[in-house]
Amino acid sequence: MTTKETIELFDKYVIANYSRLPRVIVKGQGCYCYDSDGKEILDMFPGWAVSGIGHCHPKVVEAIRKQAGELLHIDNTFYSEPQGKLAKLLSERAFGGKCFFCNSGAEANEAALKLARLYTSQEKYKFITAEGSFHGRTFATVAATAQPKYHEGFLPLLPGFLYVPFNDVGALKAAFSDEVAAVLVEAIQGEGGINIATKEYLEAIRELCDVNGAVMILDEVQTGAGRTGKWFAYQHFGVEPDIMTMAKALGGGVAIGAMMAKEEIASSLVPGKHASTFGGNALACAAAVATIEAIEQEKLLENAVELGEYAKDKLNQLKEKHSIIDHVRGIGLMIGVQLKGPGSDIVDKCLENGLRINCTNETVLRFMPPMIVNKSQIDKAIDILDSVLSEG
Ligand SMILES: *Cc1c(COP(=O)(O)O)cnc(C)c1O
Repeated sequence: MTTKETIELFDKYVIANYSRLPRVIVKGQGCYCYDSDGKEILDMFPGWAVSGIGHCHPKVVEAIRKQAGELLHIDNTFYSEPQGKLAKLLSERAFGGKCFFCNSGAEANEAALKLARLYTSQEKYKFITAEGSFHGRTFATVAATAQPKYHEGFLPLLPGFLYVPFNDVGALKAAFSDEVAAVLVEAIQGEGGINIATKEYLEAIRELCDVNGAVMILDEVQTGAGRTGKWFAYQHFGVEPDIMTMAKALGGGVAIGAMMAKEEIASSLVPGKHASTFGGNALACAAAVATIEAIEQEKLLENAVELGEYAKDKLNQLKEKHSIIDHVRGIGLMIGVQLKGPGSDIVDKCLENGLRINCTNETVLRFMPPMIVNKSQIDKAIDILDSVLSEG
C-alpha cells in the first residue's frame, strides 16, 4: 500500500479523534522507526512512552513468539503462569503488594479509585488530585485529571474530585477531610510538563492520608518500569504509596496495565467487585516479564541514570546557546525542556530532520528516549535540535 492509500483508509474509515502527522510508520527497531517512504526517524519519544526499552526489543519479541505458540489468552476463571510470574517480579521490585492486571493506564487508575472506595468507609467518596495531572480518558479518570481542557463537553463529571495546586502542601491540608478516600498523584507529572513533586509534598500526602484514614495512590503509568533510573519514581523520594498504577512501558510495547496494592488493601477486592476480560492475559504478561528481565540483564536502569545525566548536560549546553530555552528538568530519561514560547513548531521541524520528540503543555519539549539509548544517539538528537533552534 502507498502512503497515500493508507491515509485514505483512515480518512474514510477511522474516527478522526487524533491529529496525525502525514506519515505511515511501518517498522521500528531500537531507537529508530521507519516510515513507508523509507525515512529513518531517531525516536526520542517512542510510542508515547510505551516502547521504553526501544522498538521491538529482541528479548520481548522472542518471548511473544514463544508464548504465542503456547497460549495467547485464557480467562481469569483459570490460573496462568505468566500472570503469576509478572506479579511476583513487580511486587519484589516495589513495595511487596499484590497485583491486579488490566490493559491500560486509565483502567489501572479506575481499579485504584474503586479499590480505595471499597477499602475505606462508604462515607469517604472524595478524591484529591493535583492541577496539571493526567490520569486517563475514561469518565472517572478524566474527572481525576485536573485540567479543564479535558473536561470540556463532558460535564457533569463524576462527583467527589477535589483539585489542588501541585506541590502545595497548604492547599492539600485545606482540601483534606474525613470524607477523602484517596489522594491520586504522579511523582513526576508527564502530560502536565515534567513537573517533579517535591519530597516534602509526597511526605505530606503520606502523612495526611495516614492521619485521615485515606489511601495514597501513585500514578506511575508514565514514570514506572524504569524510565527514571529506578523501577518506580516514588523510590527516588523515600515515600511509599498504598496503591500504585502502571501501564505504558510495562509491556515493552504490548498493551498492559497493572495496579499494585498493599496486601491489607488488596484484600478488599473480592470476586464480583472488579474485573477485566483481557486483564493478565498470557501474551501481555509474557511480554512484561521479558521487559523486566531485559532491563535487568542489560543494566538499563543504570543506563537510564547515566544517559539521563548526559542528555541533561547536553541540553543545558544548548540552553547557553539558545535563549528560547528557559531551563531543563527531569529525572533519568524523563526530561523536559522548558521553553519561553510554544514548542510545537520545533517538534515538527525536528521530525522533518529525522528526530522525534514531543511537546506537552505547549511550552515543554519532552525527551523520553528508550532506556537502551547510547551517547551517539543522544548527540545526534541534540545536533538536530540545535540546528532547528538555530534556524529560529
Ligand atoms: C498515559 C497516562 C495515563 C493513561 O494511560 P492510557 O493507557 O492512555 O489509558 C494515565 N496516567 C498517566 C500518568 C499517563 O501518562
